[in-house]
Amino acid sequence: MSNKLYVFGHQKPDTDSITSAIVLANLERALGLDATAYKLGEVNKETKYALKTFETEEPLTLDSVDENCDVAMVDNNEFSQSVSGIEKANIKMVVDHHKIKFETVEPIFYLAEPVGCTATILYKLYKQNDVEIDSQIAGLMLSAIISDTLLFKSPTCTKQDVEIANKLSKIAGVDIETYGKEMLKAGTDISEFTPYQVINIDSKEFNDKNTKFEISQVNAVDLDSVFSRQSELEDAIQKEIQDKNLDFYMFAATDILNANSKIIAIGNKANAVEKAFGVNLENNTAMLNNVVSRKKQMLPNILNNLD
Ligand code: MG
Ligand code: MG
Ligand code: MG
Repeated sequence: MSNKLYVFGHQKPDTDSITSAIVLANLERALGLDATAYKLGEVNKETKYALKTFETEEPLTLDSVDENCDVAMVDNNEFSQSVSGIEKANIKMVVDHHKIKFETVEPIFYLAEPVGCTATILYKLYKQNDVEIDSQIAGLMLSAIISDTLLFKSPTCTKQDVEIANKLSKIAGVDIETYGKEMLKAGTDISEFTPYQVINIDSKEFNDKNTKFEISQVNAVDLDSVFSRQSELEDAIQKEIQDKNLDFYMFAATDILNANSKIIAIGNKANAVEKAFGVNLENNTAMLNNVVSRKKQMLPNILNNLD
Protein backbone atom coordinates (compact mmCIF):
# COMPACT_ATOMS: atom_id res chain seq x y z
CA MET A 1 0.00 0.00 0.00
CA SER A 2 1.48 3.27 -1.05
CA ASN A 3 1.58 6.32 1.17
CA LYS A 4 -0.85 9.10 0.62
CA LEU A 5 0.48 11.66 -1.88
CA TYR A 6 -0.08 15.33 -1.01
CA VAL A 7 -0.32 17.41 -4.19
CA PHE A 8 -0.07 21.19 -4.04
CA GLY A 9 1.12 24.33 -5.79
CA HIS A 10 2.60 27.49 -4.31
CA GLN A 11 1.56 29.91 -1.58
CA LYS A 12 -0.75 32.74 -2.61
CA PRO A 13 -2.11 30.34 -5.17
CA ASP A 14 -3.06 31.35 -8.69
CA THR A 15 -5.39 29.41 -10.97
CA ASP A 16 -2.62 27.15 -12.32
CA SER A 17 -1.45 26.31 -8.81
CA ILE A 18 -4.91 25.26 -7.66
CA THR A 19 -6.19 23.53 -10.77
CA SER A 20 -2.92 21.74 -11.55
CA ALA A 21 -2.92 20.27 -8.05
CA ILE A 22 -6.47 18.99 -8.66
CA VAL A 23 -5.60 17.76 -12.16
CA LEU A 24 -2.39 15.94 -11.12
CA ALA A 25 -4.06 14.36 -8.07
CA ASN A 26 -6.82 13.11 -10.39
CA LEU A 27 -4.23 11.61 -12.75
CA GLU A 28 -2.33 9.90 -9.94
CA ARG A 29 -5.58 8.44 -8.58
CA ALA A 30 -6.40 7.11 -12.04
CA LEU A 31 -2.96 5.46 -11.95
CA GLY A 32 -3.73 3.82 -8.61
CA LEU A 33 -2.17 6.16 -6.05
CA ASP A 34 -3.88 7.62 -3.02
CA ALA A 35 -3.46 11.26 -4.06
CA THR A 36 -5.18 14.39 -2.70
CA ALA A 37 -4.93 18.00 -3.88
CA TYR A 38 -4.42 20.81 -1.36
CA LYS A 39 -4.16 24.57 -1.45
CA LEU A 40 -1.54 26.65 0.37
CA GLY A 41 -3.65 29.75 0.80
CA GLU A 42 -6.87 31.54 -0.08
CA VAL A 43 -8.27 30.89 -3.53
CA ASN A 44 -8.48 34.11 -5.55
CA LYS A 45 -11.57 35.38 -7.35
CA GLU A 46 -10.42 34.34 -10.79
CA THR A 47 -9.82 30.78 -9.59
CA LYS A 48 -13.16 30.73 -7.77
CA TYR A 49 -14.84 31.67 -11.05
CA ALA A 50 -13.08 28.80 -12.82
CA LEU A 51 -13.91 26.25 -10.10
CA LYS A 52 -17.54 27.33 -10.09
CA THR A 53 -17.83 27.16 -13.88
CA PHE A 54 -16.49 23.62 -13.93
CA GLU A 55 -18.31 22.54 -10.76
CA THR A 56 -15.23 21.73 -8.74
CA GLU A 57 -14.77 21.99 -4.97
CA GLU A 58 -11.92 24.03 -3.55
CA PRO A 59 -9.15 21.80 -2.20
CA LEU A 60 -8.57 21.77 1.56
CA THR A 61 -5.83 23.95 3.02
CA LEU A 62 -2.51 22.37 3.95
CA ASP A 63 -0.63 24.12 6.76
CA SER A 64 2.50 22.00 6.98
CA VAL A 65 4.09 18.71 5.99
CA ASP A 66 6.63 16.56 7.81
CA GLU A 67 9.20 13.85 7.08
CA ASN A 68 6.45 11.22 6.82
CA CYS A 69 4.66 12.98 3.97
CA ASP A 70 5.01 12.06 0.31
CA VAL A 71 4.45 15.18 -1.70
CA ALA A 72 4.12 16.35 -5.31
CA MET A 73 4.88 19.99 -6.09
CA VAL A 74 3.16 21.63 -9.05
CA ASP A 75 3.70 25.06 -10.60
CA ASN A 76 6.77 25.86 -8.46
CA ASN A 77 9.92 24.30 -7.10
CA GLU A 78 11.13 26.91 -4.60
CA PHE A 79 10.89 26.06 -0.91
CA SER A 80 10.42 29.77 -0.10
CA GLN A 81 7.11 29.62 -2.01
CA SER A 82 5.98 26.24 -0.68
CA VAL A 83 4.46 24.78 2.47
CA SER A 84 6.06 24.85 5.90
CA GLY A 85 8.17 21.73 6.45
CA ILE A 86 8.75 21.10 2.73
CA GLU A 87 12.53 20.73 3.19
CA LYS A 88 11.96 17.61 5.32
CA ALA A 89 9.16 15.99 3.27
CA ASN A 90 9.63 13.17 0.74
CA ILE A 91 9.30 15.07 -2.50
CA LYS A 92 8.25 12.43 -5.01
CA MET A 93 7.32 14.60 -7.96
CA VAL A 94 7.69 18.07 -9.37
CA VAL A 95 5.74 19.26 -12.42
CA ASP A 96 6.62 22.84 -13.17
CA HIS A 97 7.38 25.55 -15.70
CA HIS A 98 9.61 27.93 -13.71
CA LYS A 99 13.31 28.44 -13.30
CA ILE A 100 14.78 25.62 -11.27
CA LYS A 101 16.13 26.09 -7.78
CA PHE A 102 16.07 22.56 -6.54
CA GLU A 103 18.32 19.90 -5.09
CA THR A 104 17.47 16.34 -4.06
CA VAL A 105 19.17 13.52 -2.21
CA GLU A 106 17.31 10.82 -4.13
CA PRO A 107 16.24 10.47 -7.75
CA ILE A 108 12.74 11.88 -8.23
CA PHE A 109 10.19 12.41 -10.99
CA TYR A 110 10.99 15.95 -12.13
CA LEU A 111 9.13 17.25 -15.17
CA ALA A 112 9.82 20.80 -16.24
CA GLU A 113 9.18 22.38 -19.61
CA PRO A 114 9.53 25.96 -20.79
CA VAL A 115 5.85 26.31 -21.65
CA GLY A 116 3.29 28.87 -20.51
CA CYS A 117 1.49 26.77 -17.95
CA THR A 118 1.78 23.66 -15.79
CA ALA A 119 -1.54 22.47 -17.23
CA THR A 120 0.04 22.22 -20.69
CA ILE A 121 2.60 19.75 -19.31
CA LEU A 122 -0.11 17.85 -17.43
CA TYR A 123 -2.19 17.51 -20.59
CA LYS A 124 0.70 15.65 -22.21
CA LEU A 125 1.16 13.53 -19.09
CA TYR A 126 -2.50 12.43 -19.31
CA LYS A 127 -1.96 11.51 -22.97
CA GLN A 128 1.27 9.61 -22.21
CA ASN A 129 -0.51 7.61 -19.54
CA ASP A 130 -3.60 7.15 -21.67
CA VAL A 131 -5.90 8.60 -19.00
CA GLU A 132 -9.13 10.20 -20.17
CA ILE A 133 -9.57 13.96 -19.86
CA ASP A 134 -13.23 14.65 -19.06
CA SER A 135 -14.95 18.01 -19.51
CA GLN A 136 -14.35 19.08 -15.91
CA ILE A 137 -10.61 18.34 -15.97
CA ALA A 138 -10.39 19.94 -19.44
CA GLY A 139 -12.10 23.09 -18.16
CA LEU A 140 -9.72 23.33 -15.22
CA MET A 141 -6.66 22.90 -17.44
CA LEU A 142 -7.99 25.43 -19.93
CA SER A 143 -8.58 27.96 -17.13
CA ALA A 144 -4.98 27.59 -15.98
CA ILE A 145 -3.61 28.16 -19.49
CA ILE A 146 -5.79 31.24 -20.00
CA SER A 147 -4.70 32.60 -16.62
CA ASP A 148 -0.97 32.00 -16.96
CA THR A 149 -0.78 33.23 -20.57
CA LEU A 150 -3.22 36.12 -20.08
CA LEU A 151 -5.35 34.71 -22.86
CA PHE A 152 -2.24 34.02 -25.00
CA LYS A 153 -0.93 37.61 -24.73
CA SER A 154 2.00 36.85 -22.43
CA PRO A 155 5.47 36.25 -23.94
CA THR A 156 5.51 33.05 -21.86
CA CYS A 157 2.83 31.62 -24.13
CA THR A 158 4.05 28.94 -26.55
CA LYS A 159 2.52 27.29 -29.61
CA GLN A 160 1.85 24.20 -27.49
CA ASP A 161 -0.17 26.22 -24.97
CA VAL A 162 -2.38 27.56 -27.75
CA GLU A 163 -2.85 24.18 -29.47
CA ILE A 164 -3.62 22.36 -26.25
CA ALA A 165 -5.98 25.12 -25.05
CA ASN A 166 -7.91 24.76 -28.29
CA LYS A 167 -8.29 21.01 -27.81
CA LEU A 168 -9.31 21.51 -24.18
CA SER A 169 -11.95 24.12 -25.05
CA LYS A 170 -13.68 21.59 -27.30
CA ILE A 171 -13.72 18.96 -24.55
CA ALA A 172 -14.85 21.53 -21.96
CA GLY A 173 -17.48 22.96 -24.31
CA VAL A 174 -16.61 26.65 -23.87
CA ASP A 175 -15.51 29.38 -26.24
CA ILE A 176 -11.97 30.41 -25.25
CA GLU A 177 -12.31 34.17 -25.89
CA THR A 178 -15.68 34.57 -24.18
CA TYR A 179 -14.95 32.36 -21.21
CA GLY A 180 -11.35 33.60 -20.94
CA LYS A 181 -12.28 37.29 -20.74
CA GLU A 182 -14.98 36.60 -18.16
CA MET A 183 -12.61 34.53 -16.04
CA LEU A 184 -9.77 37.09 -16.17
CA LYS A 185 -12.17 39.93 -15.39
CA ALA A 186 -13.50 38.05 -12.37
CA GLY A 187 -10.00 38.29 -10.92
CA THR A 188 -9.60 42.05 -11.29
CA ASP A 189 -12.12 43.26 -8.72
CA ILE A 190 -10.02 44.37 -5.74
CA SER A 191 -12.45 46.97 -4.44
CA GLU A 192 -13.26 45.19 -1.19
CA PHE A 193 -9.67 44.17 -0.45
CA THR A 194 -7.48 45.86 2.15
CA PRO A 195 -4.13 47.21 0.83
CA TYR A 196 -2.39 44.26 2.52
CA GLN A 197 -4.70 41.84 0.72
CA VAL A 198 -4.19 43.59 -2.63
CA ILE A 199 -0.41 43.27 -2.54
CA ASN A 200 -0.69 39.66 -1.40
CA ILE A 201 -3.07 38.37 -4.08
CA ASP A 202 -0.14 37.09 -6.15
CA SER A 203 3.19 37.88 -4.63
CA LYS A 204 6.42 35.92 -4.67
CA GLU A 205 9.55 36.30 -2.65
CA PHE A 206 12.97 35.77 -4.18
CA ASN A 207 16.39 35.55 -2.64
CA ASP A 208 19.17 35.77 -5.19
CA LYS A 209 22.58 37.41 -5.40
CA ASN A 210 22.41 38.49 -1.76
CA THR A 211 19.22 40.38 -2.45
CA LYS A 212 15.87 39.58 -0.89
CA PHE A 213 12.97 41.01 -2.79
CA GLU A 214 9.34 40.46 -3.58
CA ILE A 215 7.41 40.89 -6.82
CA SER A 216 3.67 41.22 -6.48
CA GLN A 217 1.25 41.31 -9.39
CA VAL A 218 -2.45 42.05 -9.83
CA ASN A 219 -4.45 41.94 -13.02
CA ALA A 220 -6.46 45.05 -13.86
CA VAL A 221 -8.81 46.40 -16.50
CA ASP A 222 -8.38 49.97 -15.19
CA LEU A 223 -4.92 51.00 -13.93
CA ASP A 224 -6.18 54.37 -12.66
CA SER A 225 -8.55 52.75 -10.23
CA VAL A 226 -5.70 50.65 -8.81
CA PHE A 227 -3.43 53.70 -8.51
CA SER A 228 -6.10 55.79 -6.83
CA ARG A 229 -5.04 53.69 -3.84
CA GLN A 230 -1.31 54.26 -4.30
CA SER A 231 -0.56 55.81 -0.93
CA GLU A 232 -2.25 53.08 1.12
CA LEU A 233 -0.64 50.42 -1.08
CA GLU A 234 2.75 52.03 -0.38
CA ASP A 235 2.11 51.89 3.36
CA ALA A 236 1.36 48.18 3.10
CA ILE A 237 4.49 47.66 0.98
CA GLN A 238 6.67 49.53 3.49
CA LYS A 239 5.40 47.28 6.22
CA GLU A 240 6.25 44.15 4.21
CA ILE A 241 9.75 45.51 3.58
CA GLN A 242 10.26 46.04 7.31
CA ASP A 243 8.68 42.77 8.47
CA LYS A 244 10.55 40.60 5.97
CA ASN A 245 13.72 42.65 5.79
CA LEU A 246 13.44 43.03 2.01
CA ASP A 247 15.94 44.96 -0.10
CA PHE A 248 13.10 46.08 -2.32
CA TYR A 249 9.48 45.39 -3.25
CA MET A 250 7.95 45.72 -6.69
CA PHE A 251 4.18 45.81 -7.12
CA ALA A 252 2.91 45.53 -10.69
CA ALA A 253 -0.64 46.18 -11.85
CA THR A 254 -0.96 44.51 -15.22
CA ASP A 255 -3.47 45.86 -17.72
CA ILE A 256 -4.85 42.64 -19.19
CA LEU A 257 -6.49 44.35 -22.15
CA ASN A 258 -3.54 46.46 -23.32
CA ALA A 259 -0.74 44.19 -22.06
CA ASN A 260 1.23 46.81 -20.08
CA SER A 261 2.15 47.05 -16.41
CA LYS A 262 2.35 50.03 -14.09
CA ILE A 263 4.59 49.47 -11.10
CA ILE A 264 5.36 50.75 -7.64
CA ALA A 265 8.93 50.00 -6.53
CA ILE A 266 10.22 50.80 -3.06
CA GLY A 267 13.31 49.85 -1.05
CA ASN A 268 17.07 50.30 -0.68
CA LYS A 269 17.79 48.50 -3.92
CA ALA A 270 14.80 49.76 -5.92
CA ASN A 271 17.29 51.20 -8.39
CA ALA A 272 17.69 47.60 -9.67
CA VAL A 273 14.16 48.01 -11.06
CA GLU A 274 15.10 51.24 -12.85
CA LYS A 275 18.12 49.57 -14.43
CA ALA A 276 16.15 46.43 -15.27
CA PHE A 277 13.56 48.24 -17.36
CA GLY A 278 15.41 51.41 -18.36
CA VAL A 279 12.92 53.63 -16.56
CA ASN A 280 13.07 56.36 -13.92
CA LEU A 281 10.83 55.90 -10.94
CA GLU A 282 8.72 58.99 -10.42
CA ASN A 283 6.82 59.12 -7.17
CA ASN A 284 7.90 55.45 -6.84
CA THR A 285 6.05 54.51 -10.02
CA ALA A 286 6.84 53.74 -13.64
CA MET A 287 5.01 52.42 -16.69
CA LEU A 288 6.46 49.26 -18.23
CA ASN A 289 5.21 49.00 -21.79
CA ASN A 290 4.61 45.49 -23.12
CA VAL A 291 5.67 43.94 -19.82
CA VAL A 292 3.16 41.45 -18.43
CA SER A 293 5.12 38.40 -17.30
CA ARG A 294 6.84 38.19 -13.94
CA LYS A 295 8.57 34.97 -14.88
CA LYS A 296 9.89 35.88 -18.30
CA GLN A 297 10.20 39.66 -18.17
CA MET A 298 10.16 41.16 -14.67
CA LEU A 299 12.23 38.59 -12.77
CA PRO A 300 15.01 37.87 -15.29
CA ASN A 301 15.48 41.59 -16.03
CA ILE A 302 15.80 42.30 -12.34
CA LEU A 303 18.13 39.34 -11.69
CA ASN A 304 20.40 40.59 -14.48
CA ASN A 305 20.61 43.98 -12.84
CA LEU A 306 21.39 43.08 -9.25
CA ASP A 307 24.87 44.06 -8.11
MG1 MG B 1 1.67 30.02 -10.47
MG1 MG C 1 1.90 28.43 -13.67
MG1 MG D 1 1.21 33.64 -12.26
